[in-house]
Amino acid sequence: MNLHEYQGKQILNSFGVNIQRGIVASTADEAVAAAKKLTEDTGTSWYVIKAQVHAGGRGKGGGVKVAKSIDEVREISSEIIGMNLVTPQTSVEGKKVHQVLIAEDVYYPGASEIQEFYMSVLLNRQSSKNMIMYSTEGGVDIESVAENTPDLIHTIDIDPDSGLSDQEISVIADNLGLSGNAHSEMMEFVKSLYNAYSKSDSSLFEINPVIKTSDDKILAVDAKVTIDDNSLFRHQDYLELRDIREENPIEVEAKKAGLNYVDLDGNVGCMANFQE
Ligand code: ADP
Ligand code: MG
Repeated sequence: MNLHEYQGKQILNSFGVNIQRGIVASTADEAVAAAKKLTEDTGTSWYVIKAQVHAGGRGKGGGVKVAKSIDEVREISSEIIGMNLVTPQTSVEGKKVHQVLIAEDVYYPGASEIQEFYMSVLLNRQSSKNMIMYSTEGGVDIESVAENTPDLIHTIDIDPDSGLSDQEISVIADNLGLSGNAHSEMMEFVKSLYNAYSKSDSSLFEINPVIKTSDDKILAVDAKVTIDDNSLFRHQDYLELRDIREENPIEVEAKKAGLNYVDLDGNVGCMANFQE
């Protein structure tokens, strides 16, 4: 089951992973109220308005914009809510935006340089282990990093029974070029991220970017979270996070009939029965 960014971040936060904070809104009025509340809670004076659809590359399609005042929050939210967002990861028709996340600005200037990293936790089916994939080249399309500069992508396999050692976590922070406070913040981040992945029975966490702020905090700015459908019986509270507006209607109907159906191109599909 795929989740929206705001839902993925709520799960991360529930396991103590640091996130860019935000409040979801379905109308421009709600967006304005959310922005005011966010300033009360976090002190932020700028806001990032982020379209909530099940697709990445939203920034490139005009679905992520910075607002520098409450008036701009209203203006930008009215533009984004209801739009058909086309990104490199959607079809040419795009995806209709029903909600936006009003998020705090974490790119504020300060003493140290801001950095964006890439980090994902996933199941490595080849080794039957979990894997963390990470890179100093965050905030950009990871597929092109893999194609042009594969040396800049690191991976580590993790035995699900023994988990990650402090030594292994320290190597990750070293490979990301961090030292001092940022190094220990990254170690905490990786530890809590892996624990969240494991306890939530997810099959994918993709955090792009993970940011190092100008005051050396490490936070998840984006979150793509996929929960393993086979584990949902253990997580009744996650069931309500399903947004069927984002799913293929034929697959939703098949699921209601107790069938596992995957819609493929043309007139081909794949169908199997399953037991609840
Ligand atoms: P997507 O991956 O769908 O494009 P992201 O949440 O990763 O969405 O946002 C896209 C980009 O927007 C990020 O890589 C980041 O560089 C930029 N961004 C996000 N928040 C801010 C902010 N507060 N100030 C400036 N840029 C931001
Ligand atoms: Mg992103």
